[in-house]
Amino acid sequence: MSETAQSVLKKYYGYDTFRPMQKDIIESVMAKQDCLVLMPTGGGKSVCFQVPALVLPGICLVVSPLIALMKDQVEALLANGISAGYLNSSLGPQEQYDLENKCLAGTIKLLYVSPEKLLSPGFFSFLKRLPVNLFAIDEAHCISAWGHDFRPEYTQLRYIKAQFPSVPIIALTATADRLTRLDILKQLGLEAAKVFVSSFDRPNVSLTVMPAKNRLKSITNFLETHRGQPGIIYCLSRNSTEQLAQKLTGEGYKAAAYHAGLPPQTRSRAQDAFLKDNVQIICATIAFGMGIDKSNVRWVIHYNLPKNIESYYQEIGRGGRDGARAAALLFYSYSDVMRLRDMLKEGKPDQVNLQLAKLERMQQYAEATMCRRKILLQYFGETHVNDCGNCDICRNPPATFDGTLLAQKAFSAVARLEEKVNMGLLIDVLRGARNQAVLQKGYDKIKTYGAGRDLSPLDWQSYLHQFLNAGWLEMAYEEGYALKLNQRSRAVLFADQKVSLVKFQPSAGKDEIKEVRQLKKERIKDELFDRLRVLRKKLADENQVPPYVIFSDSTLQEMAAEKPTNRVAMLAITGVGLVKYENYGHDFINEIIQFVTGQEEQGYTVKSIKR
Ligand code: ADP
Ligand code: ZN
Repeated sequence: MSETAQSVLKKYYGYDTFRPMQKDIIESVMAKQDCLVLMPTGGGKSVCFQVPALVLPGICLVVSPLIALMKDQVEALLANGISAGYLNSSLGPQEQYDLENKCLAGTIKLLYVSPEKLLSPGFFSFLKRLPVNLFAIDEAHCISAWGHDFRPEYTQLRYIKAQFPSVPIIALTATADRLTRLDILKQLGLEAAKVFVSSFDRPNVSLTVMPAKNRLKSITNFLETHRGQPGIIYCLSRNSTEQLAQKLTGEGYKAAAYHAGLPPQTRSRAQDAFLKDNVQIICATIAFGMGIDKSNVRWVIHYNLPKNIESYYQEIGRGGRDGARAAALLFYSYSDVMRLRDMLKEGKPDQVNLQLAKLERMQQYAEATMCRRKILLQYFGETHVNDCGNCDICRNPPATFDGTLLAQKAFSAVARLEEKVNMGLLIDVLRGARNQAVLQKGYDKIKTYGAGRDLSPLDWQSYLHQFLNAGWLEMAYEEGYALKLNQRSRAVLFADQKVSLVKFQPSAGKDEIKEVRQLKKERIKDELFDRLRVLRKKLADENQVPPYVIFSDSTLQEMAAEKPTNRVAMLAITGVGLVKYENYGHDFINEIIQFVTGQEEQGYTVKSIKR
């Protein structure tokens, strides 16, 4: 009797239910319908082709562009007890020959191939001897020059449909705008395909923006509440990745740098250590992350402002792929905006305006005073009515106040400084600073000098940004970022126009306190989680796989909360399939029993033990 999709999901993956859309996609694929699937990173695309491949007789061909990713996916499948293999340039002739024989003998259910391999001479005739039940094209946006990661070799994949007209094709991607989407369908010959677009929301990833002042201090505070949790810090320059990694190492953290300028060996050593949880923190340029499948990245920090929202969303999407809580923290500074503007201006002339406009959207996001998730999703064309409750703005809703007096002080100073100074100097004048720039030009003599000394520079910065964002003030980028008055600011100065401002409050402080309390409350659960994590690490090293291949963080969290101590209870944990139970179930049950007994001996009653 053949298995159903539902039973396969439970048996091999240990999941009870399909996520929204997975079921529809799988049913379509099994009905031999071509499909295009757009889901965010971590949305659960793999299940959409792996489950049909397991239910249907025959073998599924998976085309994937990245050798490292292929290896990871095959490892994860093998750990779940699914027979899979990969063919690419990294294999020797003998390994290749053996694997091909296994395919012919019908013992492989999923075969991963690189596009080069698929199109190599003789490979199609080899495939014709196999009962291929499905072609899955991963990272399908690589086929389109409109996408952000065009790979010319992908365009050859259009031969698949011609050669195998009766085999369904499922194309999958996490990023494709409308144009790229149409291009994928056209090039792969999937005009009749069903298109599935899932929401791009990642509700488990919290969003926070902080001022870039004292970044190192903010990072170490942040790490205090994320002890031992793996994460990525994205920096703009290669130099800063190395400096930051060094500083964090100096603070006692296990951190490594990663950028394209490092020797390949150093790079792959850093990546490998991170995958295996030997290094907690990777300080990287955007070169890091593509093709990395680590599901237990618990946080992503942007040390600098990314140049557009697409990149930002893709980068924070590397956190929390297992569905458990993850944090995205962005440091924002005006000087980054200026630096990026200068960099972008040197790009291709026909692209400059587009890139600058994208940067401006990014800046608006960073300075936003409304739910950040709404802004992000709106950017990708999804309108959400409700606030998310999981961003810094939602957690600390901004209070507004009458900012007319502040605006008058600032605008009057701008006028008296003849609209020639940039924001930094304006703040110095408002606060009555006695530095050289101020004194040399005689700015200490103007009427508004020192009129705003009751506010900190950070406060002023926030309010001036708000004036800029809301169009109360202009900035002349081409005149050294000098601030200029406009009609609206003149109305404030001369026509009683009122201005409302959002109270500036660096939000992280409060959040952290809340989080620390939360942590204390969950101390017992966390201790067990830590022990399970140590056990997972040990088993991973013994089996030479990354820890998240054994069990995901969310599975360990559920174990720590539920404390299963027998087979039935253990198999009820999400992510524990039959093969994994047989391989690791006992070790984890033993660890839980030992922990619970230890706690009871110390006089703690440990509730909700499932015996
Ligand atoms: P994507 O390829 O879309 O980035 P994955 O296929 O790697 O995402 O899935 C992300 C994570 O979600 C994996 O850890 C996967 O095992 C898990 N997952 C997928 N489907 C389900 C499900 N139905 N229930 C629970 N977890 C799931
Ligand atoms: Zn929100």
